[in-house]
Amino acid sequence: MLSDFYRDTWVEVNLDAITHNVLSMKKHIGEQVDIIAVVKANGYGHGAVQVAKTALDVGASMLAVAFLDEAIALRKAGIDAPILVMGATRPSDVEVAIQFNITLTVFSIDWLMEANQFISSDKVHLHIKVDTGMGRLGVREKDELRRIFSYQESSSHFEIDGIFTHFATADENDSLYFVEQYEKFEELLTTIPHQQLLVHCANSAAALKYQRKLYNAIRLGISMYGLTPSIEMKQELPFELKEAFSLQTKLVHVKKISKGEKVSYGATYEAKEDEWIGTIPIGYADGWIRRLKDFEVLVGNTRAPLVGRICMDQCMVKLPNHIPVGTKVTLIGEQNGHVISIDDVAKRLDTINYEVPCMITLRVPRIFLKNMRIIERVNSILP
Ligand SMILES: *Cc1c(COP(=O)(O)O)cnc(C)c1O
Repeated sequence: MLSDFYRDTWVEVNLDAITHNVLSMKKHIGEQVDIIAVVKANGYGHGAVQVAKTALDVGASMLAVAFLDEAIALRKAGIDAPILVMGATRPSDVEVAIQFNITLTVFSIDWLMEANQFISSDKVHLHIKVDTGMGRLGVREKDELRRIFSYQESSSHFEIDGIFTHFATADENDSLYFVEQYEKFEELLTTIPHQQLLVHCANSAAALKYQRKLYNAIRLGISMYGLTPSIEMKQELPFELKEAFSLQTKLVHVKKISKGEKVSYGATYEAKEDEWIGTIPIGYADGWIRRLKDFEVLVGNTRAPLVGRICMDQCMVKLPNHIPVGTKVTLIGEQNGHVISIDDVAKRLDTINYEVPCMITLRVPRIFLKNMRIIERVNSILP
């Protein structure tokens, strides 16, 4: 019989943690503020479809992704909730957005006028992006904002439903730049009639931290997955965040090597005494990159160091004693009271927690748990 995967390496996604984080956030921001669940980049590496369904089930009212392809993938998976594409879409692709009922982002008058040439019948739903200091995408001037609004009023091809901006520093202790952006947003809003629009500015950090008016909705990304937007925010979280993601594998080969024997490419690791070495089937092609050399994993009630260079598909662990083949090895997550968190891996790689689950490639199957039970197993290379 065909099984869903044949490899002893997998990501476990605890959807109960997603539920907890969304519900806690909803309580924190209040009933009148909607949650737009951000599931771009395959739900920050977790699995966009399952996270989206979970978030919608517990009260999120809309989804957001970066690109049109990601939105279409959600539609093809049977999700019919509103979806916003926050990034730039080609003007020539607006008909595709209309076909799948996907809301796009307009970020300049030029984009709008070009898109107009590609719509023959129906209308496309839009949110306006304004740039208040991120310097990435968005309208910067009141005049251009006015022109966008009046252009859509005189056209039958566009329907503006929302307006939003994005903060560059909401996760930092110093709130000066955040306040500048916030005030610029307030100011720009006065330019157009926005009473009927979905107005949103807060990402996870701003929603967690600021008691300021969050308008009609927040865009909840990283903290839906149970991660803190920055290390400096860890001290003062208004509620507990639960990490949904863990990365597991199993020992596939265990042997004793003698003092002086070598391990892996380059033969850079040499046993200082007789040692037990285990092999695990995960490598840099899975996103467990070579820079994680000498990092630790959890196995057999302890922390054990990786030894030798990480290969494309495998790497080696120095075991404290003989541990049988088939024993579970945790690369990210908890095992018998020991924890290796996503933040630990991020620190080791000198990056931010956002990057870590995104790094784990689609070659690694995802297992989804709800009420502590497996509800779905997804193998992207053998769908
Ligand atoms: C990714 C993204 C978000 C989510 O931010 P988090 O810090 O993950 O909550 C919100 N808005 C925009 C425009 C984004 O690109």
